[in-house]
Amino acid sequence: MKAVSYADGKVKFSIVPRPIGEGVIVDVASAGICGSDLHLLQSKSHSPHVAGHEISGVTSNGKHVAVEPIIPCSVCEVCKSGNYHLCKNDSKGMGMSINGGMTEQMIVPEGCLIELDSRVPIKDACLVEPLAVAIHGLVQTNTKDTHRVAVIGGGSIGLCAIVAAKYIGCEVDIYAKYDHQIEAAHELGAGELNGKYDRVIDCVGNDQTLSLSSKTAKSGSWIVILGIPMQGINLPGLRVIMNEIKIFPSIMYSSTDGVKDFTIAAKVLSRYPEIGKKIITHRFRLDEAEEAFAVAGDKNSKSIKVVFDPSLT
Ligand SMILES: [Zn+2]
Ligand SMILES: [Zn+2]
Repeated sequence: MKAVSYADGKVKFSIVPRPIGEGVIVDVASAGICGSDLHLLQSKSHSPHVAGHEISGVTSNGKHVAVEPIIPCSVCEVCKSGNYHLCKNDSKGMGMSINGGMTEQMIVPEGCLIELDSRVPIKDACLVEPLAVAIHGLVQTNTKDTHRVAVIGGGSIGLCAIVAAKYIGCEVDIYAKYDHQIEAAHELGAGELNGKYDRVIDCVGNDQTLSLSSKTAKSGSWIVILGIPMQGINLPGLRVIMNEIKIFPSIMYSSTDGVKDFTIAAKVLSRYPEIGKKIITHRFRLDEAEEAFAVAGDKNSKSIKVVFDPSLT
């Protein structure tokens, strides 16, 4: 079957055997390219495997699902606490350390499947993963509907953060660098930055955005870092400490009081089934792997979320 695979520090179209083994067979409906895929590709640190951790599909008995792409050990203390995303006990990441979803078919452990209701467009449901990333940061910082939320960065995580904050009931504003991002953010209901905020969601995580985030955060509030800093970062120390601004470096998704961020994210997409039209800007065939990654990595392409659709011919 067709797949998009990492090999020798590159990403390319390939033909791979159909998966065999324990678990549920999922026919992939959509698989998104994530900023972290581009980071890992740049660092050439991939082992050879099928790419893709933002995945939706249909099981052999017709269930529509999103795939939570982490397989933790499930028995260690960290896993039992609900923070299974932090498991260091031989946990695996689909598309990160083992085969992922940029292909026609996968076999997925039952526990990684999140069932989608009929309102969710299956071809857009790879967005459940980045929505879960945004939900995690908001849930972990106890974000309430009374909070004003600022989102810094208008890539797909930033746009998902807007939608996630709206779902909670927050007023949300955006700062983004590119016009097409700002336009999409406004269409999703974000206003322009004004004043100070109870939660600042920094979806870039570099020195410049952290400086803006710290100026934008109210005293005693939280900055949630959803952007992945690939090197050391500088916080404006005095401003942060004199205002007791709390920092939450947020990664992936987990479960709080028995509720998975992924489950909430599926509800977000069910509430706002039209967001795919604003966030997904490009769809590619699997055999267009190199072009798709080039478009996703090119700031001038006006791409936001670039998605593989295995059914395209
Ligand atoms: Zn991702
Ligand atoms: Zn574990």
